[in-house]
Amino acid sequence: AAQAVRGESVFDTQCPFCSVQCKMQVIEHRTGTERPTYTVIPKPNAASEGRLCIKGMNAYQHALTAERILHPMARIDGELVRISWEEAYERIRHKFTELRGRYGYDSIGVYGGGSLTNESAYLLGKFARIALGTKYIDYNGRFCMSAAASAGNKTFGMDRGLTNPLSDIPLAKCIILAGTNIAECQPTLMPYFTRAKENGAFVIVIDPRETGTTAIADLHLKVKPGMDAALANGMQKVLLEEGLLDKGFLANRTVGFEKLKAHLRQLNLDEIAGLTGVSEELIRKAAIAYGKAATGMVFTARGVEQQTDGYMAVRSFLNLVLMTGKIGKPGSGYGAVTGQGNGQGGREHGQKADQLPGYRMIDNPADRAYVAGVWGIDPSELPGKGVSAYEMMEKIHEEEIRALFVMGSNPLVSNPNANFVEEGLRKLDYLIVADMFLSETARLADLILPVSAYIENEGTLTNMEGRVLLREANRLVPGEAKHDWQILCDIAGKMGKGEHFAFRSAESVFNELRLASKGGIADYYGITYDRLRKEEGVYWPCPSASHDSSGRLFETTFAHPGGKADIASVANHLPDEPTDGEYPLTLTTGRVLTHYLTGVQTRRSHSLAARDFESFVEIHPRTARKLGIKDQSLVRLRSRRGDIVVRSRYSAGIREDAVFVPMHWGDVQNVNKVTNPALDPTCRMPGFKSCAVNVLPLYPV
Ligand code: SF4
Repeated sequence: AAQAVRGESVFDTQCPFCSVQCKMQVIEHRTGTERPTYTVIPKPNAASEGRLCIKGMNAYQHALTAERILHPMARIDGELVRISWEEAYERIRHKFTELRGRYGYDSIGVYGGGSLTNESAYLLGKFARIALGTKYIDYNGRFCMSAAASAGNKTFGMDRGLTNPLSDIPLAKCIILAGTNIAECQPTLMPYFTRAKENGAFVIVIDPRETGTTAIADLHLKVKPGMDAALANGMQKVLLEEGLLDKGFLANRTVGFEKLKAHLRQLNLDEIAGLTGVSEELIRKAAIAYGKAATGMVFTARGVEQQTDGYMAVRSFLNLVLMTGKIGKPGSGYGAVTGQGNGQGGREHGQKADQLPGYRMIDNPADRAYVAGVWGIDPSELPGKGVSAYEMMEKIHEEEIRALFVMGSNPLVSNPNANFVEEGLRKLDYLIVADMFLSETARLADLILPVSAYIENEGTLTNMEGRVLLREANRLVPGEAKHDWQILCDIAGKMGKGEHFAFRSAESVFNELRLASKGGIADYYGITYDRLRKEEGVYWPCPSASHDSSGRLFETTFAHPGGKADIASVANHLPDEPTDGEYPLTLTTGRVLTHYLTGVQTRRSHSLAARDFESFVEIHPRTARKLGIKDQSLVRLRSRRGDIVVRSRYSAGIREDAVFVPMHWGDVQNVNKVTNPALDPTCRMPGFKSCAVNVLPLYPV
């Protein structure tokens, strides 16, 4: 850490802002008289190949800003007041004991995040179930990966973001990018795709709007928001009609194709063109390009997944992969493009309502018995299955959850139907937020616990390839901030469960995680900190210290007991909330290049904030003119649940019946005041990516 007044210090770290986890070196220059300046140098790792995007180049800024919370704070007479850690813990013990006594153990909820390290995610799950004894734990990854994860589990018997290493992408001769804007969300991956194009790949991008990613497309299918499953159905129908099938693969490695064939024969391509807004000709062109290519890869992300049919929509795209046998080979596979920094690891270690570490299931007796054994308790002491993240907000309204412990998340901005969420958070008996900053959620808290930033916090993260990486801590924690794991262990001790939380380092937590995951689907047992220091990350599953993997899954068998993949027959699902005369436009949401998630960190990086300092609504000029909206003017965007005020941004690249608003801002610009909380029936993903809205000028002229 930098201690001298003058001079230079250097620290290595990796960017926290997406699942590539690019490495970098930061040099701090101190003159002794002014604020230090910083130079950031990209460092190669296997995924980033030495690239950094604008977020990574400026990621040191938020961690070093004066806005960091440096000591615990409690709300006393309406004001947040500095208190000691001991007082903070005593307040938690007192409140939790009182609530549990009056309303039962499930009166306390725990809310985690997909940016936490594997160690923190693991410990948070154990903390909820052992230290607090509550079944109510879920996390913001419910909004990120739940559709793709459940689709991967059902289809392949296993969910790991990419079935292939990134280095396979340039070997693909056709690439489908469905509902993913890699150019802005994971920018350093773009060279993999441009390299594939140089090798002759045909790139198909499916998105309602033009983006940096559609710029490399040979074919852009401008689908209506929410109609991705139908579009993939149309492509499957063409594959069937054209005989572009891998019959041997279908016979030997899949089940369900005969049923799918009958289903597809009933579908009408003309009707699908009408539903999706993509012409029959373009659907045919896309399907034939993919079907005829010798190798191919399909990627999905939140555009497909954050729908009320997200689970089945992903399965519809997986059918394309299985019908053509394009998986388990160099240049052939599938990828769910993870958004959060630890979106992959965050969903593996038990901070999800239905899961225990290693992807074990909380309602499976054998899984419960194994994890209870590792934790030194009787399986009967393990709580059962809770509910998904948004459903926890409903439980708060129903007064079943009376206190909420939030770590690594900003639920007020990331949940749909934010007005409802805010009402719930305000009526809680007790809200505790562990954060680096006074986020929108923290502003409502009764108690705030300051946590370390990524540059100070040692731990492992699992990138989108399923490659586990070690991020070392190279700065001292400022003020009185603590690491997540320390806070969880301290509170567990206060709640009388210290014997189960006797950890002295992140590594000691990881070593228990390894054991808890042993024999599970996401098996980390063979991975150690020592190994991660020597190797450039290690892929899971890794059952032993000598186990090595190419990172390519399903080369000869799938993970289901019978070894075969499961093909689904998918309906042409319509969005939950169709447009009408009052709400004639479909809103879709997403990211911009400069910001991450709800912007709590990136809005506090001055370079990133200066580049995109406010939200906006992207709207087609023809649509805007009909509504009397000038470019760069303030508008009110309204749905059945609420309204926001943002600035208009004309774009001829978006569908005329759709508008787009980014998700990085809170308060009056919080797009989730508008979004639809209807949930996918299987994975409980909300339909963020399509709801009916109207847009009107704020100051009509
Ligand atoms: Fe790399 Fe992602 Fe960070 Fe950009 S945001 S530097 S792509 S980890």
